[in-house]
Amino acid sequence: MDFALNEDQLAVQEVARTFAEKRLKPRAEEFDSEKLMDRGLIKEIAELDLMGIGLPEEYGGGGMDSICYLLTVEELTRGCSSHAAVVMLHNSLYGYPLVRYGTEEQKQKYLPPICTGDAIGVFALSEAGAGSDASSLTTTYTKTDGGYLINGSKIFITMGSMSDTMIVFAISEKGAGAKGISAFMVDTKSDGVMIGTNEKKMGFRASPTTELSFSDCFVPKENLLGNEGEGFKIAMSTLDGGRISVGAMSLGLAQEALEIAIKYAGDRVQFGKPISSFQAVQFHLADMSTMLEQARWLVWRAGWLKDQGDNYTLAAAHAKLAASEMSTAVTHKATQVLGGYGYCAEYQVERLYRDARLTELFEGTSEMQRIVIGRQLTGKR
Ligand SMILES: Cc1cc2nc3c(=O)[nH]c(=O)nc-3n(C[C@H](O)[C@H](O)[C@H](O)COP(=O)(O)OP(=O)(O)OC[C@H]3O[C@@H](n4cnc5c(N)ncnc54)[C@H](O)[C@@H]3O)c2cc1C
Repeated sequence: MDFALNEDQLAVQEVARTFAEKRLKPRAEEFDSEKLMDRGLIKEIAELDLMGIGLPEEYGGGGMDSICYLLTVEELTRGCSSHAAVVMLHNSLYGYPLVRYGTEEQKQKYLPPICTGDAIGVFALSEAGAGSDASSLTTTYTKTDGGYLINGSKIFITMGSMSDTMIVFAISEKGAGAKGISAFMVDTKSDGVMIGTNEKKMGFRASPTTELSFSDCFVPKENLLGNEGEGFKIAMSTLDGGRISVGAMSLGLAQEALEIAIKYAGDRVQFGKPISSFQAVQFHLADMSTMLEQARWLVWRAGWLKDQGDNYTLAAAHAKLAASEMSTAVTHKATQVLGGYGYCAEYQVERLYRDARLTELFEGTSEMQRIVIGRQLTGKR
């Protein structure tokens, strides 16, 4: 068992950390308050070979292992979670299912542009009536000459309003359940695709979270991803990996908050001493650091298991549950260490706290992770 990062992993960590420090962090408050995603920065991330870091080299990716990918997400999140989320989308929610289930033509068409940052690919599963219960979709597909027609709507789609292409999940008929679901590659500019409004959110504000609808949207038959009826399996296997990514995002938010809190506690003087000399404050920092390290090993282990080709459903759920709840707890404690400034935008912790709250909600809520873990342990559904 080797707990050390190898040379490649350390190098990637350094590149991502430096980029976050120089290019994202100085503007993070602006991105948040202006709800601003900078496509130029997405290109810059791609130029560092980070945008498709975990995708195969033959399609323009970096061909690096899951730990390199998770380090990239963690470090970029420390700068800006919304920009980091594009890397998550491209490697995980959009890239992974294409690599695993796509045809050669689909991979050649859709993977290179997301690796270069020229296109944004999104994952459109959730609907107004289908959140945790993803099998209850009502967006339908029907067969037509040369392909399919998609009708219905999706909500909460990350980067939806900035997307160029999307993986859309639809059902053969309402009520058909998991076995009736298929996945399709849809170009956002296709006739019949309508981009709705972006949600006003508590955090993760630079990233548009969009409603999308489809009205007789024609999808050629070669854009079916995997086989017909395989959509639910594709979604669930993708979300296993997505959960580790959210784990890495949770680490980034918490690590940043911890470091800000340590620095602040060293600088802030009350009762004639830096507050870091008070045991109560040290205890907060100690708890934050302990929770963070616990979660980091779960996240990295889940990524490592994925690379071994082992089943990692349980490990991914452990990682997501522990890391996301840790992230909320650590950013909450950081707020406490900073006192009144923890509540103000100037010191960033307030934004990190708002962003962290999302990690317990998307790609399966904490309750759904407990359900996955419970089922894996007992074998009962
Ligand atoms: C900012 C943001 C970005 C998102 N990005 C995407 C995206 O890119 N693509 C996409 O497809 N989706 C996306 N989502 C959707 C996200 O994955 C869902 O919000 C999430 O899965 C929860 O679904 P829901 O919001 O419908 O909550 P619900 O399923 O309605 O859950 C509400 C509450 O009930 C609990 N609950 C539900 N069922 C059970 C049960 N059986 N047992 C116990 N408790 C239960 C939940 O845990 C939760 O606490 C995003 C959401 C947000 C907020």
